[in-house]
Amino acid sequence: MEIAAFLSDKAGAISVVEKKEFPLQNALGPQVGGVAMKMLQNRGVKFYMKTELSELKGKDGKVSHSFVLAPLPAGVFPNSAFLKGTSIARDDSGSILVDLRMQTNILNVFAAGDVVSFPVALLNGDRSSIHHQQVAEAHGHTAALNMLKKDKELHTVPFFWTTMVGKTIRYAGRRGQRDGNNLHSSAFPFRDGFVTAAASLNCDPMVSLIAEVLYSGKQISKEEAE
Ligand SMILES: Cc1cc2nc3c(=O)[nH]c(=O)nc-3n(C[C@H](O)[C@H](O)[C@H](O)COP(=O)(O)OP(=O)(O)OC[C@H]3O[C@@H](n4cnc5c(N)ncnc54)[C@H](O)[C@@H]3O)c2cc1C
Repeated sequence: MEIAAFLSDKAGAISVVEKKEFPLQNALGPQVGGVAMKMLQNRGVKFYMKTELSELKGKDGKVSHSFVLAPLPAGVFPNSAFLKGTSIARDDSGSILVDLRMQTNILNVFAAGDVVSFPVALLNGDRSSIHHQQVAEAHGHTAALNMLKKDKELHTVPFFWTTMVGKTIRYAGRRGQRDGNNLHSSAFPFRDGFVTAAASLNCDPMVSLIAEVLYSGKQISKEEAE
């Protein structure tokens, strides 16, 4: 998306091919992804959703044709196939299961980053894979401390940031599968009456401030958010 945004006023034609219904859906949810898609559509970027690129053909170093397949099962798959035949526990998608010390089911074997599924405090410990740079760094930090026998549990609020066509997109927290989904939840998904995530478009530092509140362990009620 960032590349498409950057090239949108430079290239003759830009197409985005995406397996899900919206871009950035896995990381930020359909509402934020939908807004980002609209921003780029307004700049002439074409979107092919629920679609997968199967082949690029070219001549003299230039792409002349691309071929797409649709529809395909959606999802991002972790690169954990090399663990086949080991007893390291993974879920159905292949994500490695870790605890809050980033330890797998095997003592002293740790994993971190996009490849893991971990208990998310904001989701009352429900497991999730979160593909954000900040989360991967927090995982690595925690894993390293536990390798050094510091006995440290992961304590972080997932935070995603990017910039597209001059506008900042920020997302803190995590929307769970069963979290509320009404008009306001596009910016503030909530669970059991409390905010689990916040998103903003060009409205800094709102999401950073909310992340700090969530990090401190305080809860933000649906009423306060609205
Ligand atoms: C196009 C794109 C844009 C993104 N934009 C943002 C953004 O704006 N903000 C944000 O917060 N996050 C963003 N992300 C997500 C972020 O990049 C990832 O969450 C983060 O890089 C995860 O870190 P990681 O160390 O887990 O995995 P990676 O950064 O993917 O590193 C894994 C490394 O392991 C190597 N590897 C894989 N398999 C093996 C193997 N068998 N043996 C040895 N090495 C192996 C890979 O080559 C790779 O170098 C983006 C991701 C992508 C793809």
